[in-house]
Amino acid sequence: MDITPLRAPGYEDVRRCRDQASGLHAIIAVHSTVLGPALGGMRVHLYRGEDEALTDVLRLAAGMTFKAALADLPLGGGKAVFIGDPKRHKTESRLLAMGRFVESFGGRYVTAEDVGCEVRDLEILAKETRHVTGLSRESGSSGNPGPATALGVYHGIRACLDEVFGSPDPLGRSVAIQGVGSVGAGVARHLAQAGARLTMSDIEVSKVERVAREVGARVTSPEEIIYEQCDVLAPCALGGILDDHAIPRLRCRIVAGCANNQLLEPRHGDLLAKRDILYAPDYAINSGGIINIASELRPGGFDEKWVQARLQGIADTLRQIFRIAREERIGTHVAADRIVRERLAAGKRATS
Ligand code: NAD
Repeated sequence: MDITPLRAPGYEDVRRCRDQASGLHAIIAVHSTVLGPALGGMRVHLYRGEDEALTDVLRLAAGMTFKAALADLPLGGGKAVFIGDPKRHKTESRLLAMGRFVESFGGRYVTAEDVGCEVRDLEILAKETRHVTGLSRESGSSGNPGPATALGVYHGIRACLDEVFGSPDPLGRSVAIQGVGSVGAGVARHLAQAGARLTMSDIEVSKVERVAREVGARVTSPEEIIYEQCDVLAPCALGGILDDHAIPRLRCRIVAGCANNQLLEPRHGDLLAKRDILYAPDYAINSGGIINIASELRPGGFDEKWVQARLQGIADTLRQIFRIAREERIGTHVAADRIVRERLAAGKRATS
């Protein structure tokens, strides 16, 4: 197995692995371990080349540092990319080699699920390394993070309602949900139980019809959902939906959902603020998954009560972000980034 360091200014440790015997080609990026071991999933994707894979792994690893710091977890940020088609290239020998690659970081990088990677793949990695999270609940691990992410988003939406309407109660509030997959459907269930009026959409028609029947929601088309007149728009599908075209057409007071990277560019956060639309920074409101995983890394292992308390803490983090944004007249995305930079600077001071 050939492991080579790659140059990436601003990152602690980035390595490429080429394993001739199995054919594995992968990169692991450790962005920061200032606050703790670098946690981040393994993405399996057929990149067009190593440059594209490197760009992606660096962006994702830095994003994990920010997400963990904002959730106030003793974790840093990292990510792995396995270059290959998730349907054809995840052979047992490559996954075992990937496990050895993860192990070569000696615990400074801890892996988990991501796009193209399933629990059964992680179970193979776990034969070669202890530094794997998100295995099944039966094995004492934290399991599927979707339900925790959904509950965290629900708490976050309540904090947003409080900020805009002076009450966190979703009763009678209108919410438009884009994407009712693992997280979106969970958000819908919590909101329906609390008496919110829901409109939803998904490109999978049978799925959205099933969830809508279950929670008593109205269904609209994927083209129309983000322009619904509503109190809250909850993007729970794709990133990059908040752009120059969409923002002037939004008819909501709040944007709060689980999708990663909702702002196409940071300046789109400013555009939302100009329109007086409250934006819950995605990496603040969708941190339920990482909180769930962080629990299993604690001494004593996974602890449901601890997770529930920390999920409620997402609302407190958002309140802090909204207060800073209000007082300093800055976008909520800028306020969130500032909190992260302060926590990282304090972590650096503590370790130096
Ligand atoms: P998922 O694949 O289970 O669900 C996504 C849903 O969105 C699918 O049902 C899909 O059909 C639908 N969809 C795709 N394009 C759409 C469109 N144009 N319009 C309407 N619906 C569309 O994924 P998930 O785990 O629920 O995650 C959703 C988002 O949240 C992703 O951006 C993910 O990165 C992010 N996220 C998930 C977690 C987690 O714990 N699962 C944690 C943090 C962030």
